[in-house]
Amino acid sequence: MTLPLLKCPACRREYPVRPGLFSCPDARAGEEHTLERELNAAQDAGAKVRAAWSGGARRTFAAFADLLSAARLLGPDRYAQLLGRLTGSLERLEGRGFEATPLLAAGAALARAIGRSGPLWIKDETGNIAGSHKGRHLMATLLYLEALRILDGEGDRSVLAIYSCGNAALAASAVARAGGYELHAFVPAEVDPVVAQMLAERGAFVEKIARAETGGGDPCYRAFQEALVHRGWLPFACAGNDNWSNIEGGATLGWELLLQLADRGGQLDCVVLQVGGGALARAVSQSFHEALALGVSERIPRIHVCQPEGGFPFVRAYYRVMQAVARRCGLAFDLRYEREAPAAAQLEALKAFAWSRGDQVRELAGFIRRNFDAPEVRSVLSDIPFHVGRYMWPWDGPAPHSLAHGILDDVTYDWYPLLRAVLRSGGQAEVLREEAIRSAYDLAHRHTGIRVCPTGAAGLAGLIQLTEAGVVEKSESAGLFFTGFDRSPAR
Ligand SMILES: [Zn+2]
Repeated sequence: MTLPLLKCPACRREYPVRPGLFSCPDARAGEEHTLERELNAAQDAGAKVRAAWSGGARRTFAAFADLLSAARLLGPDRYAQLLGRLTGSLERLEGRGFEATPLLAAGAALARAIGRSGPLWIKDETGNIAGSHKGRHLMATLLYLEALRILDGEGDRSVLAIYSCGNAALAASAVARAGGYELHAFVPAEVDPVVAQMLAERGAFVEKIARAETGGGDPCYRAFQEALVHRGWLPFACAGNDNWSNIEGGATLGWELLLQLADRGGQLDCVVLQVGGGALARAVSQSFHEALALGVSERIPRIHVCQPEGGFPFVRAYYRVMQAVARRCGLAFDLRYEREAPAAAQLEALKAFAWSRGDQVRELAGFIRRNFDAPEVRSVLSDIPFHVGRYMWPWDGPAPHSLAHGILDDVTYDWYPLLRAVLRSGGQAEVLREEAIRSAYDLAHRHTGIRVCPTGAAGLAGLIQLTEAGVVEKSESAGLFFTGFDRSPAR
């Protein structure tokens, strides 16, 4: 089978997946070098995935083996052996392996409550390993690490590190334990004691890190980085900038959605995804693009994304890029955002613009979708990797705060590939009002029966706002991802 390639958007170089590379070796500060995995001349992968699915394959990492680097590196027999061993451990330790999660058609009551008439599909990840989608991201990384280790003569397992405020660390601890790896989790000092307890039960070393003020990035991320550099630990985080391989795992979520939808004769006009570090939305976007390229689907839905008003670095980057495109193409876009001016006032002004000038935003988003491959749009986008600081920098507004606290990342690590996917699809990036987040959480519990946490239901808040604003038509078909189990006391 052909091996995938890893592509750097700044170096414009391709790297092989072996001997083992997680990030671009020539990465430089202030530039965007996040690797993107390309399947490369694997047109039959689509047919194989479809055949496996229609043959009843529902074990995630078996059904989508043809899309995974580990399977391509090891070949079918050795991969099946590896997957069997890891799945056995997960079943023994976590009570389940990775299997396709439910896709729910939301009922009329929820549609009525949010003023919609179109179909609403909800992918329910709350019952997945460790209660979120994060495990499937990290399982692909574990498979990749194990494939490399097997090919290199089954040497010692490296020590792994992750930074997280909750679900990602939990999932990492479950997956790392199943693989027999030592894991260190860098978590905020005020980590939920229930989560800290669950981490310890799974044998993870919990490293508590205190937060000072905003502007310098996530202190847990900085401690994680230091451990990679000075201790030689491997990045086992749920973001693609330090390790591309978890995006392959996250993409299985989008693949499952597409195949389940096709089985039920449904299709999507748009999806609305909650964004923190950006890995989920990037991975789902990647699956849509790959499914189209491999002949499994016929079109890409509009990819809308959303972040809480308490912290929205990706939405800011989206607006900064919109500003740059408008300037380059001579189009109207009345946002003023000065990188050097005091942050709090600039962020307030951005929010006000986003909520009041939907007409300009929609028009420009439509223009970019139609002209995505035109030279003037391309030139702005291909210049971004060399001037990251103009678009994405650590959150420097007031201390981040939201009921959806799981998506308050200082930096949207996977922002650049996600931004391109959003713009190309004609989607938009939405700032969520805090009351919409609360209301979405309440409605999700009342009308879906899914015990989802506020962070995991934030995409519904995005859909509510985008429908009210007319960006999503009431009759359109929409998709959401309920990604985290609610650990707060039963409601
Ligand atoms: Zn590079």
